[in-house]
Amino acid sequence: MSQWITVLGATGSIGSSTLDVIRRHPTRYRVYALTGFSRIQELVAAAIEFSAKYIVVPTASAAAKAEAFFKQAESDTSNSSNEHSSCSVLVGENALADVASAQDVDMVMASIVGAAGLLPTLAAANAGKRVLLANKEALVMAGPLFMQAIRDNNALLLPIDSEHNAIFQSLPENYRGDFSQHGIEKILLTASGGPFRNKTKSELINVTPAQAVAHPNWTMGAKISVDSATLMNKGLELIEACFLFNCRADQIQVVVHPQSVIHSMVQYNDGSVIAELGQPDMRTPIAYGMAWPERIDAGVKHLDLFEIAQLDFVAPDHDTFPCLNLAQNAFERGGIFPAVLNAANEIAVAAFLAEQISFLAIPELIEKVIQACPEQDVTCLEDVLAADRWARELANTLLPSYLLDR
Ligand code: NAD
Ligand code: MG
Repeated sequence: MSQWITVLGATGSIGSSTLDVIRRHPTRYRVYALTGFSRIQELVAAAIEFSAKYIVVPTASAAAKAEAFFKQAESDTSNSSNEHSSCSVLVGENALADVASAQDVDMVMASIVGAAGLLPTLAAANAGKRVLLANKEALVMAGPLFMQAIRDNNALLLPIDSEHNAIFQSLPENYRGDFSQHGIEKILLTASGGPFRNKTKSELINVTPAQAVAHPNWTMGAKISVDSATLMNKGLELIEACFLFNCRADQIQVVVHPQSVIHSMVQYNDGSVIAELGQPDMRTPIAYGMAWPERIDAGVKHLDLFEIAQLDFVAPDHDTFPCLNLAQNAFERGGIFPAVLNAANEIAVAAFLAEQISFLAIPELIEKVIQACPEQDVTCLEDVLAADRWARELANTLLPSYLLDR
């Protein structure tokens, strides 16, 4: 029987890789809903290709655009099938949560970028779905609440982030969140080092958004590409791993591995290290999450170790890339700190991408926001959302003092 999937963020990098896996298994997976914030024409084209029941767009004007693209596609099709009439266009945030939690849906690919993905991803968890988590920011912001929602509703959480997917594959099958029970010593979280690996601080003063998003190994959306360049991505992933696998930050060692062939490892107390290796192609973890516990063809080129020949490992440079420590500290302080870190980072990265602030100002701005943040526990979702709003407002207020001279 086919399984129904909703793809949140279908127009993005993870979204299109997910659609490619679905395309290879048309009887196994059927598309319930696709969502997109921009690129409405691509969204409509995908909805037609996969016969989606719903698409979700952010505004009424985007919906009008979508309707027009559907009409145009219908009139372009000589046999004028009634594909459009079977796809409804929904609008707004509540609709995202609706298509993530709808009864007919079996699994949800959570691949919206940033805090915007939190509510629909949580809706999927609350509805007991198989949640394929690419949207690491949702977990970073609301880790304990999110994990509780997964447990309370018998949802299945499968990590899509390549490192976490590799860790999941390298952990014992019956792992339930206790390192000592399985003789696990630590997680070795690999990092490519990003496009600026080996650069000194002074070499980073004038780097541009175009240089920052040019990742050596992975093709990804702009925000995560900048996060990879600052190493905030590894910081967010460290927090993500602590929540997913129920461990402390000091049980995770970040290892810079420039080839991105090993996607992460688990080290055991008998000396064994178990790793998952593969091409740097997100279709592997996506297909793994979709089919688990089975494996299906992901369209990924097989790994040729002779072609790779060499694997290198070095320690991260914390002085040049302070974001990793900022994230680790935020996790260790707990409460609202991870949500505040995430929000400040989103504002800083957007300002860098808009060429308003320099690359080196990103960690400075985040640190300023964190320094001003009061200790506060998280007891409910509103605490997380309030912390997110507070941090965004403060980051925006502080932004003018970091603006680049023009
Ligand atoms: P992307 O920018 O390519 O795509 C983001 C998607 O989210 C798009 O469909 C966009 O329309 C949608 N979106 C953006 N803002 C939105 C909003 N306010 N409301 C609703 N939808 C919105 O990003 P990506 O690279 O595909 O990354 C998506 C998520 O997956 C991120 O959380 C990222 O950290 C994570 N991730 C990505 C990769 C990768 O290889 N790209 C790897 C691991 C994890
Ligand atoms: Mg990753």
